[in-house]
Amino acid sequence: MIQLRARHVWTWQCNHEDLTESHAIQIQPATFHTVFDNRPDLHNTLDLIIITHNHIDHTRALRAVVEQFSVLRYIDNGQLTGTGTANPNWVRANAQTGGRNVVIRQIANTDVTSLPDKNGLTDDTIDPVNCAVTDPKIAVLSGRRDDNPGWTHEDFDNKNNHSIVIRIDFGKASFIFTGDMEQPAIETLLEWYKDTPTLNADVYEVGHHGSHNGTTSNLVEAITPKIAVISIGQWNDGQNSICFFNITLKESHAPRAP
Ligand SMILES: [Zn+2]
Repeated sequence: MIQLRARHVWTWQCNHEDLTESHAIQIQPATFHTVFDNRPDLHNTLDLIIITHNHIDHTRALRAVVEQFSVLRYIDNGQLTGTGTANPNWVRANAQTGGRNVVIRQIANTDVTSLPDKNGLTDDTIDPVNCAVTDPKIAVLSGRRDDNPGWTHEDFDNKNNHSIVIRIDFGKASFIFTGDMEQPAIETLLEWYKDTPTLNADVYEVGHHGSHNGTTSNLVEAITPKIAVISIGQWNDGQNSICFFNITLKESHAPRAP
């Protein structure tokens, strides 16, 4: 099983021909217990966790998940200071304790841009699953930037802009996840892939929880999604205020921080 993003939990399960989404808002151990209770053949094992960036709303329950289940691989962008980094640092410190054997990986953007082709970065850690029926293909399209590509200092210090971007191809279906990436980083991403079909996908998980700064018209035109999925908190939880993104109008509303 693969789990993508700590806040937005998507599951791909071998032996199922179709994508299964667990409809979880954040990683909560209860979510995984629910999945595993129905799939004892998975042996409480997560092949991969990817944290797009280390903000607390993406890492809050990471330690509990790693403690309660068998996690084989863990990927983040390697930014390990500031809010939300306690659990990513705990995973690193405890990758080999308590009977665990977690492969730790951190991805910088140069890992992606140094490739000869602009198809994204993939290997056995990023894409560890080989399913017989429909084998998902997982690639990382962007990672932590060590050099400022021309953003303001504020934008460069904003961890959202260093989000890992993920593409998944699952049979004939394709998916793009941009994490909480905001406008400056989106523009840089678009510039890199402008002459390629790499961003073109069927399903777009709307960036930054549907915030106005997580999606641009140019991004939507590059992805040309058929389906947009927004992962947000409860309508009235005070943190994730009501927001919506209208693909037709190419507008989004509701500012959000972080
Ligand atoms: Zn977030």
